[in-house]
Amino acid sequence: NSAFLAAENLVKTYTSRRGPFSTATAVRAVDRVSLSLARATTLGIVGESGSGKSTTGRLVLGLEQPTEGTVSFDGNRMPQEKTNEWRGLRARMQLVYQDPLAALDRRLTVGVQIGEPLQIHAMGSAEERKARVAELMKAVGLRADQAERYPHELSGGQRQRVVIARAIACNPELLVCDEAVSALDVSIQAQVVNLLRDLQEERGIAMIFISHDLKVVRNISDRVAVMYLGRIVEEASSDEIFRRPLHPYTQALVSSVPVAGTALKQRIILQGEPPNPAARPTGCAFHPRCRHAIARCRSETPELLSIETGRSVACHLMGSAPITEASGRTM
Ligand code: SF4
Ligand code: MG
Repeated sequence: NSAFLAAENLVKTYTSRRGPFSTATAVRAVDRVSLSLARATTLGIVGESGSGKSTTGRLVLGLEQPTEGTVSFDGNRMPQEKTNEWRGLRARMQLVYQDPLAALDRRLTVGVQIGEPLQIHAMGSAEERKARVAELMKAVGLRADQAERYPHELSGGQRQRVVIARAIACNPELLVCDEAVSALDVSIQAQVVNLLRDLQEERGIAMIFISHDLKVVRNISDRVAVMYLGRIVEEASSDEIFRRPLHPYTQALVSSVPVAGTALKQRIILQGEPPNPAARPTGCAFHPRCRHAIARCRSETPELLSIETGRSVACHLMGSAPITEASGRTM
């Protein structure tokens, strides 16, 4: 496998205890997830809260250890322990998450914070680092004089630019963005997404872009993986996901986003309970909310199967008749 990043059969199990007398139950936050990513491309991961997308991101980054499965990065297997090799690989990847205020130290100027990773890795003299901070600020669309500001003196969008500048300071080859624009106003979201795209193009960074919001993922992703209760239920090119979603869950997500050129004419409203990892339905975990469910869906978990080149779907109806609007039925 020549993928720059490859995750194979990742499983992450947590023990959950609810109430004083209840017994511990194992919750599968991530259930046999495999991903691969080429350099300078973006994989979007979408799903509702509780779908395991953040955990998948953390497993890929080596911030959590998988219960099963492996991650390899540029041909190196991520060590299970925090060895020097682990640190060496970790230095080549960065995480950008939702809340820039939590990621920043309110007592330090943003210039100091952007320069921090350079200082930690002892890159250059003080003068060189200062010049590099100015360069990074320019790259993310901040003015040089804003280096003297404190985080609370900037807007949410500017703070996220600061976080991104710091994340790219040591030239990472992989950036995992977890809801990185979700807290921002829609117009600012588009600006930050464009910034990330530009940085990717200029620097050849591979990106995993995690969001509950399909609209946001669409504009940045080459490929999209849709997750539901710890599993990937569909994976395809971004264009295909939007033009011709095949999994009933993907169809419902796509139908809620106004998109020109999609095959879906009407909005599919998801019925039933939002996904809860601690109460995972039997069979296909989506079956209580699926308008196409058949008896088999309650007892048998569909495998993620490659159904055409570059496209995988986990649904019992694949390979028989394609799912159309008209074949929808209520349970
Ligand atoms: Fe729906 Fe069954 Fe397909 Fe699951 S396997 S998505 S319940 S039709
Ligand atoms: Mg999350």
